[in-house]
Amino acid sequence: VMFYRLLSIVGRQRASPGWQNWSSARNSASAAEAHSMALPTQAQVVICGGGIMGTSVAYHLSKMGWKDIVLLEQGRLAAGSTRLCAGILSTARHLTIEQKMADYSNKLYHQLEQETGIQTGYTRTGSIFLAQTQDRLISLKRINARLNVIGIPSEIISPKKVAELHHLLNVHDLVGAMHVPEDAVVSSADVALALASAASQNGVQIYDRTSVLHVMVKKGQVTGVETDKGQIECQYFVNCAGQWAYELGLSNEEPVSIPLHACEHFYLLTRPLETPLQSSTPTIVDADGRIYIRNWQGGILSGGFEKNPKPIFTEGKNQLEIQNLQEDWDHFEPLLSSLLRRMPELETLEIMKLVNCPETFTPDMRCIMGESPAVQGYFVLAGMNSAGLSFGGGAGKYLAEWMVHGYPSENVWELDLKRFGALQSSRTFLRHRVMEVMPLMYDLKVPRWDFQTGRQLRTSPLYDRLDAQGARWMEKHGFERPKYFVPPDKDLLALEQSKTFYKPDWFDIVESEVKCCKEAVCVIDMSSFTKFEITSTGDQALEVLQYLFSNDLDVPVGHIVHTGMLNEGGGYENDCSIARLNKRSFFMISPTDQQVHCWAWLKKHMPEDSNLLLEDVTWKYTGTGASVSRGCSTNERFPQEMSVGYANGIRVMSMTHTGEPGFMLYIPIEYALHVYNEVMSVGQKYGIRNAGYYALRSLRIEKFFAFWGQDINNLTTPLECGRESRVKLEKGMDFIGRDALLLQKQNGVYKRLTMFILDDHDTDLDLWPWWGEPIYRNGQYVGKTTSSAYSYSLERHVCLGFVHNFSEDTREEQVVTADFINRGEYEIDIAGYRFQAKAKLYPVASLFTQKRRKDDMELSDLHGK
Ligand SMILES: Cc1cc2nc3c(=O)[nH]c(=O)nc-3n(C[C@H](O)[C@H](O)[C@H](O)COP(=O)(O)OP(=O)(O)OC[C@H]3O[C@@H](n4cnc5c(N)ncnc54)[C@H](O)[C@@H]3O)c2cc1C
Repeated sequence: VMFYRLLSIVGRQRASPGWQNWSSARNSASAAEAHSMALPTQAQVVICGGGIMGTSVAYHLSKMGWKDIVLLEQGRLAAGSTRLCAGILSTARHLTIEQKMADYSNKLYHQLEQETGIQTGYTRTGSIFLAQTQDRLISLKRINARLNVIGIPSEIISPKKVAELHHLLNVHDLVGAMHVPEDAVVSSADVALALASAASQNGVQIYDRTSVLHVMVKKGQVTGVETDKGQIECQYFVNCAGQWAYELGLSNEEPVSIPLHACEHFYLLTRPLETPLQSSTPTIVDADGRIYIRNWQGGILSGGFEKNPKPIFTEGKNQLEIQNLQEDWDHFEPLLSSLLRRMPELETLEIMKLVNCPETFTPDMRCIMGESPAVQGYFVLAGMNSAGLSFGGGAGKYLAEWMVHGYPSENVWELDLKRFGALQSSRTFLRHRVMEVMPLMYDLKVPRWDFQTGRQLRTSPLYDRLDAQGARWMEKHGFERPKYFVPPDKDLLALEQSKTFYKPDWFDIVESEVKCCKEAVCVIDMSSFTKFEITSTGDQALEVLQYLFSNDLDVPVGHIVHTGMLNEGGGYENDCSIARLNKRSFFMISPTDQQVHCWAWLKKHMPEDSNLLLEDVTWKYTGTGASVSRGCSTNERFPQEMSVGYANGIRVMSMTHTGEPGFMLYIPIEYALHVYNEVMSVGQKYGIRNAGYYALRSLRIEKFFAFWGQDINNLTTPLECGRESRVKLEKGMDFIGRDALLLQKQNGVYKRLTMFILDDHDTDLDLWPWWGEPIYRNGQYVGKTTSSAYSYSLERHVCLGFVHNFSEDTREEQVVTADFINRGEYEIDIAGYRFQAKAKLYPVASLFTQKRRKDDMELSDLHGK
């Protein structure tokens, strides 16, 4: 087979491993021979792209036993971004799922040479992350705490220790650093070749010089691919086309949106130092200086993430292989200056070249994986934000698991393609956003930071009105949502610059909004929530929903049910409220970022029936939440639809997302401003005011309300959240996930959502918990916080998080009982400082003093007991 010949050429050329050798090997391989191979006409899976992603998916699918796999590469294997990768494998990532992917990659690449006989240049160097400021050090300490609990060794070290580990570094401006000793460097192209070689030995057929033109789709399902060498029928297609993934996605008749965009990415290479650097010299990340530095053949390789990136277009026809783009020394100059400040001795060293190669970035700095919501069998793994080598092994494994088992073994929602919709795919949006994203790679990110570009895309009809009243905005799924409202007397500039891990400047503002929600009347614009209507001519809607949702929806017209949309494992695919509008019609309210995922799930599971209609009505209704503590009794039974002012057809529902007494108004969009004005005018005598999402967050967390996407996900079940009463287990009705829940009920749960109230924490002086902080029980790590907020009622910080029970000997998970939770002494680790905390399995009763009807509780107590 051509591929083996290609490998043997590479093998012969490889005196010392590295991309340079690969480059020359690539040139000497004969292209003509590859063309002589005839493509198969059928396969189970066609993978497009022979970079690190495509080869990793092929490797893992074949390891998992899939046989009929074809990998197509338009040029030569590993000749895309993978060829010019700087080769740094770094596990110190912000998200736990990213840390796990990188950790797996590290272990996989470590043994790949032994497995395949192909040299990959794997060298364990360790990495040192420098901190020039105290805030940067806090950020590193937070990452350090999270790395340690998943078994990745790392420690915070002093500048002196940095100098000992890397003698060329100027450490005078440093306040500390994080050392990750098991990080490595490796030749990315050789890793891809090794993965391809192993895959090929497991039966994967690899064809280079073969371009995928488009994917064939019938009835929303992949049926094959059209290539420049003919067609291949297939059930699955995997788009691993790197910077070409966006174009390729759009080339189908049924387009697949894959929001990514490439920017030029630079690094320089020097000649070896007079005393060549040892191959084990640690890699340096000086994020405040915007640069990374590693040993390269006794000299230096140094690149970075500049403030003014250069997006590039690859419009139209694919280039065959990425050429080394033009050197641009003027552009690189700030990074070069930064390098010379950090390593003054380099001043006299000869620079060999400036490498320039495109790399793809995504709208939220996270990679993209998963199945298309529009086309079944169309999978994607792309958009690596300059960490493709680090993620390659783990990402390929999770995607392969997803294809083979239907789910990856970890929750990958943060990376799921379905977190995006077509709305994030406009070229202008992507170009603007990636120009912000690339510098953000090294910017210090404090809690609750927001993107500045691509804003005001989706807005509520109340946007201008709220903006004029001081609303400060955050964005979710393209939608502007008010965070809080700045009173006229507050110094706006200071507030905008309030960037801290400590008590934020908006503390008092949010306090007064929370107080108003509790003591008077507050209005929160919640238009961004996803809203669907499901209607049928007969009983089909009820029947389908009863099967797809875990709670009983056969309730009287006008009632709302809080319910989960579960998968076969009993995990939450969605957590939502469903109102019965009439006998045959239901109104479903889901989290904002569920718009694409939930739609795809329903479409996949609903029968083809022209008498059953699913409609996305998000854009038709403005959602306004009102927390009402006086002036209006929430014991009143609201009519299903009512008039407000001149406007008819306002849907009123006895539910809130704050846990305070109140209701939601769903207002046809054209009446939104009118109704808002009416409500504000009538509410004046009750002290009405606007509130934002930060107030809502504080209120919901202190009431122990878990939110999907933050606290719960597709790997957490209702029983693990204490929500058994919201599941129709005893009613003898079948629904997705029922068997898994029955088993769990019998065997017990292995984790339990718990609320923690910090005891010895000084709100003014101590670092705040935000999310992701390790939880310790009797000194042992048991889980991480999923969200936290300051409770103005309890005057304490409240965190939510799952408690596990790891066996002390084997670290295996054991059953978690209420007794296990209650008997523990807890601490929350905030950036290395541990604070005592009280664990609770039920909300604090005094926060629910207001007497409410049973069904009001039902509607607003989203957590339940
Ligand atoms: C300068 C630079 C330095 C980097 N340094 C690091 C680092 O130190 N550490 C790290 O973790 N990451 C690093 N990265 C990022 C990493 O290299 C990339 O994220 C990774 O290589 C992307 O792999 P990929 O397989 O997605 O894309 P690619 O390697 O670009 O592979 C995509 C492949 O798909 C093929 N293809 C596209 N369209 C078609 C089609 N229609 N038909 C057939 N084939 C097609 C292409 O020819 C290409 O070979 C760096 C990137 C750059 C540019």
